[in-house]
Amino acid sequence: MHYFEYKKGELYCERVPIRRIAQEVGTPFYLYSYRTLVRHFKVFDEAFEKVPHLVCYSMKANSNLAILRLFVTLGAGMDIVSGGELYRALKAGADPQKIVFSGVGKRTDEMEDALKSGILMFNVESSMELQTLNEVAGRLGIKAPISIRVNPDIDAKTHPYITTGMKQNKFGIDILRAPKAYRLASELPNLEVVGIDCHLGSQLVDVEPFVEALKKLKALVEDLRKEGMEIHYLDLGGGLGITYNDEEPPHPYEYASNVLDEIQRFNCTLILEPGRVIVGNAGILVTQVLYTKENEEKRFVIVDAAMNDLVRPSYYGSFHQILPVQMDTREEIVADVVGPICESADFLAKGRKIPKPNPGELFAVMSAGAYGFSMSTNYNSRPRVAEVMVRDDEIHVIRQREDYEDLVRGESIPDFLIHP
Ligand SMILES: *Cc1c(COP(=O)(O)O)cnc(C)c1O
Repeated sequence: MHYFEYKKGELYCERVPIRRIAQEVGTPFYLYSYRTLVRHFKVFDEAFEKVPHLVCYSMKANSNLAILRLFVTLGAGMDIVSGGELYRALKAGADPQKIVFSGVGKRTDEMEDALKSGILMFNVESSMELQTLNEVAGRLGIKAPISIRVNPDIDAKTHPYITTGMKQNKFGIDILRAPKAYRLASELPNLEVVGIDCHLGSQLVDVEPFVEALKKLKALVEDLRKEGMEIHYLDLGGGLGITYNDEEPPHPYEYASNVLDEIQRFNCTLILEPGRVIVGNAGILVTQVLYTKENEEKRFVIVDAAMNDLVRPSYYGSFHQILPVQMDTREEIVADVVGPICESADFLAKGRKIPKPNPGELFAVMSAGAYGFSMSTNYNSRPRVAEVMVRDDEIHVIRQREDYEDLVRGESIPDFLIHP
């Protein structure tokens, strides 16, 4: 469900023709629909209204300040994975008491910043991290609230690069070793055990792995409670998938009802860390066709967006629908849609059936709101593209297109090279 729709053959975002935005900001650009973002967040949040819960938006999916601010106004907390994300979250006005800090490699300066801002909890991923956090907290005279990220060894049946809850993954503490880690945590003087956490992976299209994980976590919580530990929060992580092509992920209501069946009367505040499911289909990447060419084997459509702007196809082999902004009846071709970057991995689609493109026309790369801009780089010295939010009939540039000055910011040439 989203608000990118054709009206009389022309693709709109809410009430604005996409063509008009391209005229104003140039191409390529990311485009987000305010109404879709609000809807997705609310649907997800309301699905859990029967139990005490907190939705901590996983901001690595899309960390633009305007988008964070929008979720903050809807009552969201934030799931952060770095000091930079803490900085962004606070800048967007997030309540520190709604921030959870995940990640296998937190540095001491990042721990310090998070402790000083008074975040809700650290999701700790190793015994060494417990020790380090204890030291940092002791130095500051603050007690650090912690959950342990448990690795339940469950196959999330998603792309190997985005599964995180199996033994071979670097994430969390093996569920069999978790009780020992909890004992350690409760003995360390500057830590306070408050919860339990897991995260299975991303783009899950089935509820079973979630339910299975929840069962394992509940059993562990019961053991921990018997040992006198207080578990107030159960964090189920993120990972609910979306439709890119023909996937049929569970609706948030279905996901929630399965989770609620397990969690009711368990006396925990449920924490959820959705990313993709909130922003994925609320954003698109708009690009312009530059050239077409063909050889005996293949046709290529060369567009002005590239793997540095949207890396998912190159990185995970991901599918993104590609739609013409101007829809009409014309011949279709099968082609690779590629960018200008000097890498054969630079493609947005392979062997894709699309309307025969006209040079200069606009294409919309759909479902690009999550892990799109946030994974973009400056490779090939390409300035990062603009980000635009449409709200009804208003166009808001929420991130300027970078310029060449931005590309060299912070670089310097040592004196010995200036006068060799
Ligand atoms: C990436 C991540 C999420 C969000 O995953 P989505 O698939 O975008 O919902 C949540 N929690 C943690 C710990 C993550 O690393």
